[in-house]
Amino acid sequence: MDVHFYGTAAFEGIPSLFCRCTLCGEARKRGGKNIRSRTSVSIDNELKIDFPPDSFYHMIRDGIDLEEMKDLLFTHSHSDHLYTDDLNARLPGYAQAAERPIHVYAHDVVLRLCQQAMEAPQDKFRFHRIQPFHPVQTQTAMITPLLASHDPMETCLLYYIEKDGRQILHGHDSGWFPEPTWAFLKDKQLDLAILECTVGRSPHRANHMNIDAVLETKAWFDENRVLQPTGKVVVTHFSHNAHLLHEDLAAIFEPDIIVAYDGMTLQI
Ligand SMILES: [Zn+2]
Ligand SMILES: [Zn+2]
Ligand SMILES: [Zn+2]
Repeated sequence: MDVHFYGTAAFEGIPSLFCRCTLCGEARKRGGKNIRSRTSVSIDNELKIDFPPDSFYHMIRDGIDLEEMKDLLFTHSHSDHLYTDDLNARLPGYAQAAERPIHVYAHDVVLRLCQQAMEAPQDKFRFHRIQPFHPVQTQTAMITPLLASHDPMETCLLYYIEKDGRQILHGHDSGWFPEPTWAFLKDKQLDLAILECTVGRSPHRANHMNIDAVLETKAWFDENRVLQPTGKVVVTHFSHNAHLLHEDLAAIFEPDIIVAYDGMTLQI
């Protein structure tokens, strides 16, 4: 199974629009793994998580055929994860897309925003409302939405994904997980856990994870034997405000935790 990291930055991207901080300056100079677009992950090109404003750039950069996507899962409504206007690009008059709908799975807020953005009644997307801890069989996987600790005004979701005999945790955006999510994960055997480290060395860990929260989560996985012997932990969703280059993050986390970069593909 291929897990493809299309984007690995938080809302602002790296280098950030308009920003003259030292990290953004250094990222512009170094390029490569220090250039980060807004987050999205795809599994086997057919199950995609989130649809950020950089989807056009991802398509060009990595030669992606977005028509291979069958299921689209949304974590929450923040604009670095949900750019509804571009969904209209699959409608007649814009694209010559296949007849079949792409199935979209999301909670109430995201669904309402998608419906409002759709320019006409259409059958190119089929929308499914999902709820925390209620498993759903999609076209490509069994998904269980889990509770995140992120935006207090919204039920932000993580995902436990079972696909082709593999178990994946998509664990962001979130700070230290809510108790029901830890309880759910306790008897799992993950092949891959994707965590976030938006805020770096900041002491803040309530609605985004800092370095310590990521390391403690990995320690909790080890203590509770939640990872398969070959299971991998990946960290992503970085902000320029953490002032950490890819090289700095790799020195902190690797080899135990893989630091994602734009375009990275993992075979699990
Ligand atoms: Zn985000
Ligand atoms: Zn900056
Ligand atoms: Zn967010």
